[in-house]
Amino acid sequence: MPPDHLPEPDPNHRPLTPEQADKLPHIHRLLLGYYGQPKPREPWDPLTQFIYSLLSSRTKTPASQQVMRDLERIFHAGPNNWEPVRDASIADIERAIAIVTFPEQKAPRLKQALEQITARVGSLTLDFLAKYRTEKIRSWLEQFEGVGPQVSAAIVNFSTLRRRALSIDANHLRVIQRLCTVPRADAATTETRLMRLVPETWDAAMLDEHHALIQLHAQTLCTFADPRCENCPLLKICPTGQRNQAELHLTTP
Ligand code: SF4
Repeated sequence: MPPDHLPEPDPNHRPLTPEQADKLPHIHRLLLGYYGQPKPREPWDPLTQFIYSLLSSRTKTPASQQVMRDLERIFHAGPNNWEPVRDASIADIERAIAIVTFPEQKAPRLKQALEQITARVGSLTLDFLAKYRTEKIRSWLEQFEGVGPQVSAAIVNFSTLRRRALSIDANHLRVIQRLCTVPRADAATTETRLMRLVPETWDAAMLDEHHALIQLHAQTLCTFADPRCENCPLLKICPTGQRNQAELHLTTP
């Protein structure tokens, strides 16, 4: 039986109402109108995306991007050549990734994952995953320590695998919970529920764009500590924002 976080078709699931079917497209249109079109991603190969996703959890994007450049520079490594990182000592990897969160946990995890991939596949690559169905790829990836549903979704959606998935990180989850788009739940269940609302016509690149817009919104207006609801393009459809605004008016003399 596949893991329950995967967006499996549910034979008992009732068709969406027109309002439900337009929930994500409506959010998407409003964010596009406010922020404009995000720069399209140039997808990495699956292994490079695996390394990035493993290192970038709970780390700001500029630091995550910098650490990839640092790994390439320090170890003379890069796409199709991550063996020098696999063969480096844990101490050297930890020093190289010091700017991400929890480098002492991520360094041994990364080295171990790269060694395990080599042992299981026969070489250090994840390109072979392209021939499998999305559910099988995600289950395979989630064998590795530190790879949960959010990371496996990022790898299959953002890399050249280009599969339909939504990577629900802390930012994405916060915005969706404030909007009450689906009932409150953990990230894995939220992905399942959101995927039921995703239009059939949205391909992997469109889901990536949707995620990018939500990320941008989470980092710009819908921040963790200080959401600026008064300026938000989603205020009309956001129960949390409307409550915040009502409380503000009650407390403002
Ligand atoms: S109205 Fe406020 S809480 Fe709602 S999405 Fe916008 S910034 Fe976030």
